[in-house]
Amino acid sequence: MFMTINELAVFFQKLEQTSSRLAMTELLSQLFRKAGKGEIGKICYLLQGRVAPLYDAIEFGMAEKLIIRALVKAYGIDENQIQKKFKQTGDLGNAAQSYYRVLKPASPAGRHDNMKYFSIQEVYRKLFDLTQAAGEGSQEKKIDLLAELMRSLDPLSVRYIVRILLDKLRLGFSEMTTLDALSWMLKGNKSLREKLESAYNIRPDIGFIAERVKEEGIGGLTRVKAKVGAPILASLCQRLPTADEMIKKMGMVAVEPKYDGVRVQIHYEKSKVKSQKSKVKTFSRNLENTTEMFPELQQIGKQIKAEEVILDSEAMGIDPKTGRVISFQETMTRKRKHLIEGARQKVPLKFYVFDVLYRDGKSLLNIPLSERRIALEQIVSSGNILVVSPQIVTDSPSVLRSYHDEQIKKGLEGVVVKKWHSPYEPGRRGYSWVKFKEEGKTGKLTDTIDAVIMGYYKGEGKRAGFGIGAFLAGVRKGDRFVTITKIGTGVTDALWKELRRKLRAFTVTEKPKEYEDVGKTFIPDVWVAPGLVVEIAGDDLTKSSTHGAGIAVRFPRLVRMRLDKSPKDATTVAEARRMYDAQKNPHSRI
Ligand code: ATP
Repeated sequence: MFMTINELAVFFQKLEQTSSRLAMTELLSQLFRKAGKGEIGKICYLLQGRVAPLYDAIEFGMAEKLIIRALVKAYGIDENQIQKKFKQTGDLGNAAQSYYRVLKPASPAGRHDNMKYFSIQEVYRKLFDLTQAAGEGSQEKKIDLLAELMRSLDPLSVRYIVRILLDKLRLGFSEMTTLDALSWMLKGNKSLREKLESAYNIRPDIGFIAERVKEEGIGGLTRVKAKVGAPILASLCQRLPTADEMIKKMGMVAVEPKYDGVRVQIHYEKSKVKSQKSKVKTFSRNLENTTEMFPELQQIGKQIKAEEVILDSEAMGIDPKTGRVISFQETMTRKRKHLIEGARQKVPLKFYVFDVLYRDGKSLLNIPLSERRIALEQIVSSGNILVVSPQIVTDSPSVLRSYHDEQIKKGLEGVVVKKWHSPYEPGRRGYSWVKFKEEGKTGKLTDTIDAVIMGYYKGEGKRAGFGIGAFLAGVRKGDRFVTITKIGTGVTDALWKELRRKLRAFTVTEKPKEYEDVGKTFIPDVWVAPGLVVEIAGDDLTKSSTHGAGIAVRFPRLVRMRLDKSPKDATTVAEARRMYDAQKNPHSRI
């Protein structure tokens, strides 16, 4: 027996109407139990609004306009009518569903003319075909394919397919809830969540993981391994306030300069045939495939001694005249895809490689840093593009401190301190890696906060023209978000405009269900679904009874947008609390 797309749409509808996380997990686990072996993986992708893992650059590339044209073609209705309905509801999925009803009245038996109950697999294949249409005439082809599908789908499925195509499914949970639900499917509780999460951190392909455990139970996870071409979640840094604390907690450490650039995971696969080029792919911190942004990496073969390798690095712009590293902002100009060639002239990049995670068919994640470093030095020879990050190894707080001060003098951000005998911890913010920017000072916020924009307020005066004058920012609490600050000052005109433009994709008509405890005084004019992460600096953190986090940022300033981060990478309430405690007492553990 196969599941139909309509059965899946009914689950989508129930999930949409549910706000309790536990109830959502329960619904998802029912869905997973019902799904067959060949269906569960595809369902997992569709739940993410996709037809492939997050890291595969497989996109629908269909904007609202294109979908409206497909609907016009499918239902033979007037474009203005759909536009009007779309404006009223603010949701093209709903508009499409309601037109379906008007045009295709149900038969007395409740069935619509021509309506097919497609299997999930069939619809998945059709959606996948949409992603493959490329080149000349591809838009027309997409419209035709979609119109044909719309004509025979049931109305509820139409609603969700349109939302999937627009990346506006917004069911209100993250991959972590999906992993919980897989545990519930297997065991009836969440006891297997940690194992599932460890597998996900090494291979963040939720569809692949779901298929493995559906087929073989939890033992199927042994087949979830690192491989070249699939990103491994990046290891992240904790905070500790002083050099003494670091040595006390971590013992022998490697200390490396902290480059303030862009994290790049490099996947290299040497060509087996001489006439063919080697394959290089890169991934950002939030699993985006960024290969196109770094064309120079296609030349790294000469610097690498391995058949296959995964490297962890930070890319920095270098001033060609002085040879010094340059700011994050300038480095980011490189990210503008369309200017790739032009920008390469202006800002050549160097990739400071600080770790190796995989070599020639073997994962190196579980061997200690001390051994990974030996492997790294064997594999990479520093040169024009790749540079093995310098480091010292010490267990002396004063040596650590003076190395840190040297880096600050050179204009760097500080150092990253790494436990010398620790494995690589994918996706974890543990005490194996600690960032050291500035020694803790009482009453000062020495680090920034990564917050999600939850909504915004229309501006007054000049800012009325931008349509935004302040925004509400929140930190993460599990799968949910709570407010920590409202920012209305210290943002340049250009940045306001860019923020407004970026926020358009996330604007919603109602408060998203992920947002908890939003105080009445903070209700924004426009709600924004979790999507855009911004880095916020402030004078310090204070206790707050009005902000959901219980803590507020005093004199907040927007540092920059963090397009390389997803909402799940936002600072958590627990981290914010530790930062608060540490500023009261710089010797407490943060
Ligand atoms: P995080 O990545 O920890 O969420 P962030 O991007 O805001 O936060 P910080 O926490 O300030 O940055 O520092 C950690 C980041 O520093 C890493 O993600 C990496 O991009 C960068 N980095 C620079 N130099 C190194 C290094 N030598 N080793 C590891 N990471 C480094």
